[in-house]
Amino acid sequence: MSDSVFRNYIAGEWVDGNKDNIDNISPADTKDNIGTYAQADKAQTLAAIEAAKQGQAEWEKSGLEQRYSVLMAIGDELIARKDELGELLAREEGKTLAEGAGETYRSGQFFHYYAAEVLRQMGETADSVRPGVEIETRREPVGVVGIITPWNFPTATGAWKIAPALAYGNSVVWKPANQVPASAWALTEIISRQGLPAGTVNLVMGPGAEVGDTLIHSKDINALTFTGSLETGRKVAVATAANLIKCQLEMGSKNALIVLDDADIDNAVECAVGGAYGGTGQKCTASSRLIVTEGIHDEFVAKMIERMKKLVVGHPLKEGVHIGAVADARQMEQNLSYLELAKKEGGELAYGGEVLTEEADGYYMQPALFTNTTNQMTINREEAFAPIACIIKVADYTEALDTLNDTNFGLTGGICTTSLKYANDFKRNAKTGCAMINLPTAGTDYHVPFGGRKDSSFGPREQGTYAKEFYTVVKTTYMRA
Ligand code: NAD
Repeated sequence: MSDSVFRNYIAGEWVDGNKDNIDNISPADTKDNIGTYAQADKAQTLAAIEAAKQGQAEWEKSGLEQRYSVLMAIGDELIARKDELGELLAREEGKTLAEGAGETYRSGQFFHYYAAEVLRQMGETADSVRPGVEIETRREPVGVVGIITPWNFPTATGAWKIAPALAYGNSVVWKPANQVPASAWALTEIISRQGLPAGTVNLVMGPGAEVGDTLIHSKDINALTFTGSLETGRKVAVATAANLIKCQLEMGSKNALIVLDDADIDNAVECAVGGAYGGTGQKCTASSRLIVTEGIHDEFVAKMIERMKKLVVGHPLKEGVHIGAVADARQMEQNLSYLELAKKEGGELAYGGEVLTEEADGYYMQPALFTNTTNQMTINREEAFAPIACIIKVADYTEALDTLNDTNFGLTGGICTTSLKYANDFKRNAKTGCAMINLPTAGTDYHVPFGGRKDSSFGPREQGTYAKEFYTVVKTTYMRA
C-alpha cells in the first residue's frame, strides 16, 4: 500500500486496512480529494480492542505528571496548529475556516482542561459504623473505552471524549465518522507522538455497520461513549446493555429559542441567526424552532429577513463567508426533502432555501426561514440538521414555554427577554440539559457539564468534572488498622 494512504493506528502501529480504502472528498468542492484513508474491518477492530486492553494495563500505572504532560502537549499542539488543522477540518466537513480553526482551538482547550483535572484526583475518607474500621473511596479507571463520533464536530467530539479517558487512566478505541477521517487521523497522529504505551489510543476508521457494530457488541470493552443520531444511539444502548457495558449517548435534538415581546430585538435576531444557521445548521444545539410571541412577531420576522440577506454562503475557505457547505449529498437531499415537507404542511417560506450552484462544485444552500408553522408539523418535531428555522407564533410566555417543552428531545433551549421574572422561570422550567438566556442555543463552554434530557442524551453527563462519572469506577475500601 502506498505511503500516501492515511492508515489506522492499532497497538502503536500505523496499519493498512483489510478493506478497500476510501477517498475523502470535500463537500465544499467535489474536485478536492483530501486524501485516501484506510478502512478497518471486524478483525482489525477486535485487534484494536485487544491492544487497548494491553495498553490500558500499562497506562493506568502511569504517574500523574506523565498524564498531565501528555495532555498538555496534545492541547498545545492543537492550539498551535489551529489554522492548519482548522483548514483541513473546513475542507472535509464544509464548515467555515473560522469555525474549523475555532473547533481545533477548543479541542486543545479540552486537553488542557483535563490535564489540570489529572492533578485534582481526590478521594474521600469516612469512619466506619464499626469502631476501629476506616473507609476510603477513590476513583479507578473504567478500562477500555470505545468512542464513536459523528461528522459535524470531528475534532472536538473526539477531543472531549479522549482527553478525559486518558486523564483518568483509560485506553481508547476510536471510531470516527467515515465522512471526516482526516481530522480524526490528524488528532491521532499528534497523540501517537506522545510516548503512550502501545495500544493506549487506537484509531479504527471504517463503516459504522462493521467497525461501529463490532465495537458496540464487544464484551471486551468496559464503556462505550457515543455521539450521533438517535437511531444509531438506540442500537448502541441495546447492544451495550446486552453485555452490561456502561454507555453514554449524546444524540439529536429539536432545540427552540423563545423570543418574548420584551426582548432586545437586535440581540434576539443575532441569537436566532447564530443558533439556527451557524455550522450550516448542522449542530445538535441548533435552534431550528423559533417561538415568538405575537406582539413582536412581525417585526422579528422582518428583521430576521434583513439580517439573513447579509449572510454570505460560500466556499468555507473563502474570506467573508458566513455559512459553508452542507456536509454531503445525502445531507443535502435530506435538507431539500424537509424544505418540501414544511411547504406541504402549510409553512410559508419567508426567505431562502435556494440551492446555490454558482459556488464551487459543492453542496450549498441558502439558509431558510419558515413562518406560519405549528409545533405539531413534522418539520418542528424531527431533527433536520439543516440551515432551516421555523417560526411558531404564540400568545404569551406560558404558551411559549409549553411549546418549547413539547418535544421528544431536550438538549438546549433558549429565551430572549429583558424580564427577570420570565428569565428565572425559564431557568427552572425548561426541560432541557442546557438553558440559554439572551444567548444562542448553540455555543457551550468546555469546563462545565454538557448534555440533555429525553431522547437527546442517555447516561452520565460529558465534560467538566462530571465526565469522571463515566470514565471512572468508584472503589470503597474498608480497613481495620
Ligand atoms: P450517525 O448516528 O449516523 O453516526 C454517528 C457515528 O455512529 C458514526 O461514526 C457512524 O459511523 C457510527 N455508526 C453508524 N451506524 C452504526 C452502528 N450500527 N453501530 C455503531 N456505530 C454506528 O450520526 P451522524 O449523522 O454522524 O451525526 C449527526 C447526528 O449527531 C445528529 O443527530 C446530531 O444531533 C448528533 N450530534 C449530537 C451531539 C450531542 O452532543 N448531543 C453532538 C454532535 C452531533
